[in-house]
Amino acid sequence: MRSSQSKKIFTESFKDEDKIFVLRNLIEVRIPLKHYNRLRKKYSNEYIISFGEPKRILNRVTGRDLVFITKESGIPLLGSASFGLIDRGTNLIQVRPVTGCNLNCIFCSVDEGRMTKSLITDYVVEPDYLAEKLKEIAKFKGDGVEAHIDGQGEPLFYPYLEELLSQIKKIREVDIISIQTNGTLLNEEMINMLENYVTRVNLSLSAVNPEIGKKIHRARYSADKVIESAKMIADSKMDLLIAPVWLPGYNDGEIRNIVELALEIGAGKKFPPLGIQKYISYKHGRKLKKVASFREFYRNLRHMEEEYGIKLILNLKEFGMEKRQKIRQPIRKGERFRARLVCEGRMHGEKIAIVRDRVVTVKSKRNVGEIESFEIVRSKDGIFLAY
Ligand code: SF4
Repeated sequence: MRSSQSKKIFTESFKDEDKIFVLRNLIEVRIPLKHYNRLRKKYSNEYIISFGEPKRILNRVTGRDLVFITKESGIPLLGSASFGLIDRGTNLIQVRPVTGCNLNCIFCSVDEGRMTKSLITDYVVEPDYLAEKLKEIAKFKGDGVEAHIDGQGEPLFYPYLEELLSQIKKIREVDIISIQTNGTLLNEEMINMLENYVTRVNLSLSAVNPEIGKKIHRARYSADKVIESAKMIADSKMDLLIAPVWLPGYNDGEIRNIVELALEIGAGKKFPPLGIQKYISYKHGRKLKKVASFREFYRNLRHMEEEYGIKLILNLKEFGMEKRQKIRQPIRKGERFRARLVCEGRMHGEKIAIVRDRVVTVKSKRNVGEIESFEIVRSKDGIFLAY
């Protein structure tokens, strides 16, 4: 997927006569009629999406504009919470290859799915570029790295997942590959593929009752199908961690059922079987009326620990995680910059700029392609926001 011209990122407006083709079930490419024949004759599909000819790319699952991030685009893979890589100062590196989700969970911390009120852009990262940068960071971190594939959305939608996994598997310093999923895209074929590369699947399952499942995920959702897949993973070489979110007033009774399911099917071989999470109301996430206190949450977990004889209050060590030196951040909070806005940001009113080989998400009313001045207002964990 080489490109010589991809620094120009086009977002042309739609016309009815645009020609459309679809790549790997996720990427919908719309090309103005007048360019279509020339492009299709001359280039492969993947070459077309990676360079700067006029076109518009959409995520078919969410219907949002999709930015295809290649090395040649010049967009770095550090600095964004939405795509690329995140280093929070441990031996675990978060790998975020794609955004977008088929569910609309009432508790979603990033307001994902078609029902979103805030998101306007999705991203997909070219696998060679992502693996190359991960290798560089893994080398810096040293042996015993965990590559954790997660993201603002459902990672199993990533259309180049197997290519990415096979490259990660070759990185000497990576001992563990784990992946987060809502379980809806799992089937025998997918599980067999994952088994070749993945050490642990972190499965979000917040209800075993099908009706409660539909109510909290607000989409076509079959709890039975996800449970079947959970059993297949538990029977495979991979480890399974079931990670429900406790949602007061919605799934209180379900948490015990999920604990019992996890124990019954044999989740958690080397790692803990369960990672129960507390619903937290995030600034840009979906809001529930009832939010439990941490005190109440941990009290409930302690009761269940006694009842089931398992550990539910977990720490980094249980996942083999430890503190490691962070990669150096070249940008500080309070610094001011002037830079070109290279593509749309994830939310309304946001754009992406590049500063010192980092992505900065800038609140701006200017258009993509224009120059903006801004001040860095957040720089935590190497994720940069600016106004
Ligand atoms: S599965 Fe995850 S990303 Fe998708 S809507 Fe639910 S919480 Fe959000």
